[in-house]
Amino acid sequence: MLCTVANGGPEEIDAAARAATEAFEDWRDTPGTERKRLLHRVADLIEEHGDEIALLETCDTGQPIRFMSKAASRAAENFRFFADRSESASDGLALPTAGHLNYTLRQPIGPVGIITPWNTPFMLSTWKMAPALAAGCTVVHKPAEWSPVTAMRLAELVHEAGVPPGVVNVVTGIGETTGRALTEHPGIKAVGFVGDTRTGRAIMRQGADTLKRVHFELGGKNPVVVFADADLDRALDATVFMIYSLNGERCTSGSRVLVERTVYDDFAGRLAERVKRIRLGNPFDPATELGPLIHPLHLEKVLGYVSAGQEEGATLIAGGACPENPGSGNYFEATLFGDAGRSMRIAREEVFGPFLTAIPFDTEAEALDIANDVDYGLAAYLWTSDVTRAHDFARRLEAGMVWVNSENVRHLPTPFGGMKSSGIGRDGGDYSFDFYMETKNIDIALARHPVPKLGKG
Ligand code: NAD
Repeated sequence: MLCTVANGGPEEIDAAARAATEAFEDWRDTPGTERKRLLHRVADLIEEHGDEIALLETCDTGQPIRFMSKAASRAAENFRFFADRSESASDGLALPTAGHLNYTLRQPIGPVGIITPWNTPFMLSTWKMAPALAAGCTVVHKPAEWSPVTAMRLAELVHEAGVPPGVVNVVTGIGETTGRALTEHPGIKAVGFVGDTRTGRAIMRQGADTLKRVHFELGGKNPVVVFADADLDRALDATVFMIYSLNGERCTSGSRVLVERTVYDDFAGRLAERVKRIRLGNPFDPATELGPLIHPLHLEKVLGYVSAGQEEGATLIAGGACPENPGSGNYFEATLFGDAGRSMRIAREEVFGPFLTAIPFDTEAEALDIANDVDYGLAAYLWTSDVTRAHDFARRLEAGMVWVNSENVRHLPTPFGGMKSSGIGRDGGDYSFDFYMETKNIDIALARHPVPKLGKG
């Protein structure tokens, strides 16, 4: 056991929502320049405590330190990016028409709830919180019960930076009680949620009575489509990275690799060699590439998919088991299944572990069909040297984000989010402000136009 964390109930949620409501008026009216200064100060503190944050995150989640050592810089970047947009967040449009000037402006929606999952919790908390604060909203944050530690550290740093009390509040606890109370609270105007698709559905129901605005970043079963004409060495590197980094506990992981049949055997063979060499071990060892999964229940879920793959007739090419001397962690080998059919569970459902399913295809049309034939639509990766095919295929992929000849390389002004069961709404750049702010239209008459007269006989 690492530590004991409070299980906040509806009373604590209510206290936090009241604090956020009280703080809202002042924070909303704080000049953008001042919000910018404070949010940059938060970023400074995150960077100053980068090593500590990396250690806490590795302790709490089992994520290898080689990846968590970058968690603080990614998080600080989120704060800096939105800090710089604080001053322009309320900007609108001028929409003149005959005799009238219409203009829009944006105003923060009010106190918002932020609910985050256990994968890369620190980075994700900042990804949701920074735009809310830059917009002028106050926040009640409910982190995941399996990884609450860095959320509390973040709140401490936010307060140390000088952000006024009540602007950021954290309540730890269980999703079905604490999280539920947050989504039902009438003082909370919107809920930014990152997590499982089923939980998203529950939150939508829970928020219905108070007409909560919701923003959902949900699960994925993201395809990596590899055509024979691609740079196969680079495609191989990216495929391995996008499923076995971050313990495979990553919403944008490329968890299905669709490979053109003419190069399938060669590609799958090279993939297997790499997968077998992935270094599984103590997450604090900088050489470790794959750490233990976050929780015994999650390990059980992932192992269930090994059985499902075998029962459905896919070929287990690498991994698939816990190592012999696992120590006390939830260690699970990097796993590769091949020759999978599109209807198998391992080809359709989100495993959320270091678990890759390889599927051969014959034609471009078949590849597109398989890629789109799942409930999810978060990210997709496409490898080809044919520029016409790249544009056409990318346009027809049912995914909110498509990377062509690249792994996931984020650029913060771009929209991040999914289609279908992968989400509602987009984050990043100005898109985040669409969620955290109300757009208001103001119409000013520019001349004394004739107003229709009733009741004059
Ligand atoms: P989860 O849905 O089980 O939990 C997420 C959060 O929701 C936790 O804080 C949990 O306590 C809370 N919660 C659970 N039930 C709730 C309820 N009824 N009301 C309110 N809150 C409730 O998800 P998880 O297992 O922690 O995270 C993994 C999932 O998150 C995966 O599906 C992954 O793809 C997804 N994810 C998506 C993105 C994205 O950007 N699309 C990013 C990261 C993770």
